[in-house]
Amino acid sequence: MTTTTDELIQRLLALNTVDLRIRELTERLERAPAAVSEREEAAKGLEDKASQVRQKLALLRAQRRMRENEVRGLDAKLERLKSQSSNVRSNKDFVAFRSEISNTQAESDRLQGEVLKILEVEEQADARIKQLEEQRDAERARAASMKEQTLEQMGAVRAEREALQNDRKKKVEDLPKEALQLYDRCRVARGSGMAHLEGEYCGGCGALVTRNDVYAVQNRSRLVPCKACNRLLYL
Ligand SMILES: [Zn+2]
Repeated sequence: MTTTTDELIQRLLALNTVDLRIRELTERLERAPAAVSEREEAAKGLEDKASQVRQKLALLRAQRRMRENEVRGLDAKLERLKSQSSNVRSNKDFVAFRSEISNTQAESDRLQGEVLKILEVEEQADARIKQLEEQRDAERARAASMKEQTLEQMGAVRAEREALQNDRKKKVEDLPKEALQLYDRCRVARGSGMAHLEGEYCGGCGALVTRNDVYAVQNRSRLVPCKACNRLLYL
């Protein structure tokens, strides 16, 4: 029994359909973990940002406490000065006390003003941390659910690919070696071993096909590879 070129092309096309699907599934298997790690990276980026703000907040707190201590010291000093000033005898001493009390009070007020400003910035930092932590948790949850989904889907994709690979083995057995070599060489190099003839042009690479080759494809007299890309041409 001899295989006609027409039959051969039909078989190669069936093989091509299987191969394209195998390729698609393989790409999906390769892409899926990348999508999960993208989400994990995003979560890590948000955690890094939150951690920076936390450090800034710790610094702000330390600065505020320093000022609060100073205020306490100044307040104690004020108490002391006030009680001392009640015992002064001369007017000169009284003026000196009054001036020092007023300076000390002004310094205490200034520091308390700074404490309030720092508290405000602390509140903003606190809110920002909460916001970043919420976003981080959302990304983590997304990554986790994607991972779970991916594992399930990948199981199904792997099973389909395995079935197709078995199917491919059977299809390949029936094919003449020479035709298979022509097809496979191009499939490995270009991802697809077949190209539709579009008028006088190869549908794979767009090259012009010679008159003779166009006739050969139309009459199915022999297998015709595109001279530019080597894909086997069909109508
Ligand atoms: Zn071509």
